[in-house]
Amino acid sequence: MENVLDTIEEITLMGPGPSCVHPSVLTALSKSTLGHLDPSFISIMDEIKTLMRGLLHTGNQLTMPVSGTGSAGMETAFVNLVEKADKVLVLINGVFGMRMQDVAGRLGADVDTLAFEWGTPVVVDDVKTALAKKDYDLVAVVHAETSTGVENPVAEIGALLKDKKAIFLVDAVTSFGGMEIRMDDWGIDALYSGTQKCLSCPPGLAPLSFSDKAVEKLKNRTDKVPNWYLDLTMLMNYWDGATRAYHHTAPINMLYGLYQALYLIHEEGETAVYQRHRDNHTLLVKGLAELGIDMLVDSACRLPMLNSVNIPEGADDAAVRSTLLKEYKIEMGAGLGPLAGKIWRIGLMGHTARPENVEKLLAALKALL
Ligand SMILES: *Cc1c(COP(=O)(O)O)cnc(C)c1O
Repeated sequence: MENVLDTIEEITLMGPGPSCVHPSVLTALSKSTLGHLDPSFISIMDEIKTLMRGLLHTGNQLTMPVSGTGSAGMETAFVNLVEKADKVLVLINGVFGMRMQDVAGRLGADVDTLAFEWGTPVVVDDVKTALAKKDYDLVAVVHAETSTGVENPVAEIGALLKDKKAIFLVDAVTSFGGMEIRMDDWGIDALYSGTQKCLSCPPGLAPLSFSDKAVEKLKNRTDKVPNWYLDLTMLMNYWDGATRAYHHTAPINMLYGLYQALYLIHEEGETAVYQRHRDNHTLLVKGLAELGIDMLVDSACRLPMLNSVNIPEGADDAAVRSTLLKEYKIEMGAGLGPLAGKIWRIGLMGHTARPENVEKLLAALKALL
């Protein structure tokens, strides 16, 4: 019988995630599996927490990766922080804001939304008006909206929530590791991410951090967290303290991968990593302009790691993407929702954000269009 893994080809992942995995992360994944309570493994867990706090610019004690992809991080944040009938405000300008609304609604929260046109950012004044009308328990926003390529003004929204009772929850799945996040300075109370976007790691873990205010809210719940696997009150006893208690078996080798991914960013230097993302973005935008392809999002709020481009007139959306994959071994993302058939999404996340990849894609598009 043929081993199907032998058929895997190397694809340059230039879509909305997963992104290219750094070879040293793949090596880390193949190291010997340790026991989940082995003291050497616990040291690795502690190092992961330290590196995460550094990159998030936070002193939050509760900082750890959750088992599961970015959506598990989203689920964990909401299920721990939201109680039935809590007043929740979700700011929506893309797919992931909509997913937050769905998750919060399933928990029995009283969910209000503020919607903004896809491809444009959340308008801070509108948020201010909504906050003046109602006293919310939680306000949620996506930092880097991967479905459109827009950066939302997280720091400004955080400033509006200063001294308010609301917990400020931020989706940093695509921003973490690709652009600056200052969790404490920006007043973020709860944040989650994923490993397969700008961390150059395969999918499988969701880095998460809660402020003391968020932990207080969790501790003061009247009911138990309605999800056993993602209950942080129990997970904390495995991730923190002098003695560690079994909850579920940690995905040991995935955690090696995350450690290596965070170590790589530390080694290259945080500012150098963000600059590399911006430089490759600039190179891409310039090259696309020469091909007559323009960007969906205004330059003021454009993400460096997710580039939404208007599909040029006459180009066959699906055919171009499929030829790109089959013949050039490059994956590029399609548009979603109202932007389906209108845009392509070009990811420059983590290890993907290198000039050789930008040039390879530009040459392929030139030949194809
Ligand atoms: C990818 C993504 C998610 C979901 O992560 P999965 O790893 O697919 O579960 C959530 N939010 C944003 C902004 C994302 O880009």
